[in-house]
Amino acid sequence: MLLGCIADDFTGATDLANMLVGGGMRCIQTIGVPREPAPDADAVVVALKSRTIAPQDAVEQSLAALAWLKANGCRQFYFKYCSTFDSTPKGNIGPVIDALMQALGTSFTIACPAFPEAGRTIFRGYLYVGDMLLSESGMKDHPLTPMKDANLVRVLQAQTRQKVGLARFDSVARGAAALRERFAALQQDGCGIAVVDAVSNSDLDTIGAACAGMPLVTAGSGVALGLPANFRKAGQLAHAGEAARLPRIDGYAGIVSGSCSVATNAQVAEWKKTRPAFRIDARKLAAGEAQVQAALDWTRARIAREPVLVYATSPPEQVKAVQAELGAEHAGRIIEQALAALAQGMVELGARKLIVAGGETAGAVVNRLGIKALRIGPQIDPGVPWTLSAGEPAIALALKSGNFGETDFFARALEMLT
Ligand code: ADP
Repeated sequence: MLLGCIADDFTGATDLANMLVGGGMRCIQTIGVPREPAPDADAVVVALKSRTIAPQDAVEQSLAALAWLKANGCRQFYFKYCSTFDSTPKGNIGPVIDALMQALGTSFTIACPAFPEAGRTIFRGYLYVGDMLLSESGMKDHPLTPMKDANLVRVLQAQTRQKVGLARFDSVARGAAALRERFAALQQDGCGIAVVDAVSNSDLDTIGAACAGMPLVTAGSGVALGLPANFRKAGQLAHAGEAARLPRIDGYAGIVSGSCSVATNAQVAEWKKTRPAFRIDARKLAAGEAQVQAALDWTRARIAREPVLVYATSPPEQVKAVQAELGAEHAGRIIEQALAALAQGMVELGARKLIVAGGETAGAVVNRLGIKALRIGPQIDPGVPWTLSAGEPAIALALKSGNFGETDFFARALEMLT
């Protein structure tokens, strides 16, 4: 095991794992901190749900993940947060970095949420979302982590005990050796953490190279683009070409969709044009009518012949109407539980290929199926790979959060497994 990662949310963990697999590292994502030893892999990403919990709890969970990764032989560690640096002045990014550094006995790390391909760039310490400063983007109104300052040095300084410095674009542009010199100078200056500028993938490669052997790297998923090259150079990634390979999975295929995003609505509409689909009615579900049973009966009659879709996905005006009637949280929860029961029913009928649309929906399905770890396979669309669940039965899972994927995502994903 070469790289041990701790991610502060589930879809962020998949994003990071997908990036590492793309770089040639065989990767496992675990859901929470496992009890059992890690399966054979080059990198493990422990997915926590620690972004917005109390800082002390985030620290505790992150330290537990670190201890498990250390016990499994990881040599370098990566703390993954959101590319918009989602946090409040209390944390959780700063407190978790402080705790991990202390536990690892290291006095220097970087902080770099840049992900240029997704429009997240850092220049002179300021984080941009597309052409806007972070503080002018939609993130300024985020319900849990409103980001009202785009200056990452200031934002991070408010959360950490350590002095925060800046490794500017000019150092990055001069290459890995120059960047390491800048790191050394910052350390001399008493800095424990350096925010690093990055505006392109080649900057991420430089940063990755400069972080070779650094005990702890803290970043979004972008910096992971440049890390596998370090291990390859050291001759530690012999099987790099096969990192995304999953064993062949036979069995029926099912899709459950609880996301109501624009992308998912289009994907469901596209599937329905030519393929079987069953709509879960939120009102009927809330009224106790046997929606799950009806959907299961419908599924049973078809799934042996062809892949089926069961969905609650609806356009915004319908979602609003249902939420007004049932309450947003209650509606969300009963639909998530219904779709999780459906996914379990599909597996009981012999489904071994499952696509789940919706971040929260995916969480509910993974919980219901008792899945503790996923091996990351080939990418379907940017940010969404096929995965294979650990344990019996092995199930191929594509967990797609809201706005990811092209319109023909469902059919194309299933074609990849035939
Ligand atoms: P996304 O990744 O698009 O945010 P999530 O699954 O995380 O998708 O969130 C979607 C939420 O909307 C879930 O809680 C889901 O149960 C709920 N939901 C799905 N369909 C409906 C509907 N028709 N009316 C109201 N809420 C719905």
